Amino acid sequence: MTKTLGYAAQGATTPLAPFHFERRAASPRDVQIEILYCGVCHSDLHIVRNEWQNTVYPVVPGHEIVGRVTHVGGDVNAFKAGDLVGVGCLVDSCGTCPDCREGLEQYCPTFTLTYNSPDAHTGKMTCGGYSNQIVVDQGFVLRVSDRLHLPGVAPLLCAGITTYSPLRQWQVGKGQKVGVVGLGGLGHMGVKFAHAFGAHVVLFTNSPGKTADAYRLGAAEVVISKHPDEMAQHLGSFDFILDTVAAPHNLDAYLELLKRDGTLCLVGAPATPHPSPAVFNLIFKRRRLAGSLIGGIRETQEMLDFCAAHGIVADIELIPIQKVDEAYERMLKSDVKYRFVIDLASLKPAGAGV
Ligand code: NAP
Ligand code: ZN
Repeated sequence: MTKTLGYAAQGATTPLAPFHFERRAASPRDVQIEILYCGVCHSDLHIVRNEWQNTVYPVVPGHEIVGRVTHVGGDVNAFKAGDLVGVGCLVDSCGTCPDCREGLEQYCPTFTLTYNSPDAHTGKMTCGGYSNQIVVDQGFVLRVSDRLHLPGVAPLLCAGITTYSPLRQWQVGKGQKVGVVGLGGLGHMGVKFAHAFGAHVVLFTNSPGKTADAYRLGAAEVVISKHPDEMAQHLGSFDFILDTVAAPHNLDAYLELLKRDGTLCLVGAPATPHPSPAVFNLIFKRRRLAGSLIGGIRETQEMLDFCAAHGIVADIELIPIQKVDEAYERMLKSDVKYRFVIDLASLKPAGAGV
């Protein structure tokens, strides 16, 4: 076992605080990683505050991890000490079910999430990237290019793959009109990817102050979603809309913007459900309402390689770990440009100062 220092929530209403725990000793298949940066996903906030009602405390969040390999087990050939690597939302899966065999580990019924998930290795709950090191099976470790701005790579491990995967699944590209709803961590990556794939991108936002950034990130048009006249100009015109909003809202407002056979894909995961959309908005134009969960390991590597080839990283605000609660409050106010990333160099034992 290896002594590890992290930040944990002890309950739904307490601030995160330093927390000492142990990682398993590296087995022959394991990669041990010193964590350098970890993105702050809205899912971290949902889980820390038990909004999905499945949190086991204490919880050490964090699933947008980049770091440097410090040690590898005897059976590990793909990585060596010193390599830059990433770890996303998954650290294990059964490897044998149809989903795993297709490289879609995120749909494996017995996957292990990076935190707040029962860990078969230890019998405890997994602990995430708000910590100084992690031990992960080699099959769930990603290669990271040293050509990219490293703190900006961390959010690719969740926000990146969660938007890349549905855009690829629905074959978004040239000649298509594609909407992205919400300009936060996921949304800003959705805009970057849809633009990079050649689509005409329309960003829907509730925050007029984000308009200039949306254009800079790759949007061709920006719609303030609370203005019905602006929404009405786009009726029946979209091939695909990716909805990243973290709170319940009216889906009909977006369904009616789809063309015949268009798809509204939900990736946002609010604590309480969206109001059910009108059936007529689906049947009259054979529209589809879909969802998508992160992405598999193979596709995550493909996404990281695509980002390295095209110079794509997240737009981030680097914070010391002591500011994570403040970051959550700002995220709730949609005041994030466009992902907070924790610099783990700030993590010091309790009493050692900031
Ligand atoms: P985020 O950075 O907080 O961005 C969410 C954006 O949604 C906000 O910036 C805001 O954009 C918009 N929004 C509009 N109304 C809102 C409201 N009442 N409350 C919060 N946001 C509102 O969050 P994120 O990290 O991108 O995550 C978004 C959601 O996706 C979360 O529910 C998260 O748990 C979920 N998620 C799902 C997956 C998956 O696999 N499906 C993976 C990761 C995260 P504007 O200011 O532009 O309106
Ligand atoms: Zn996430």
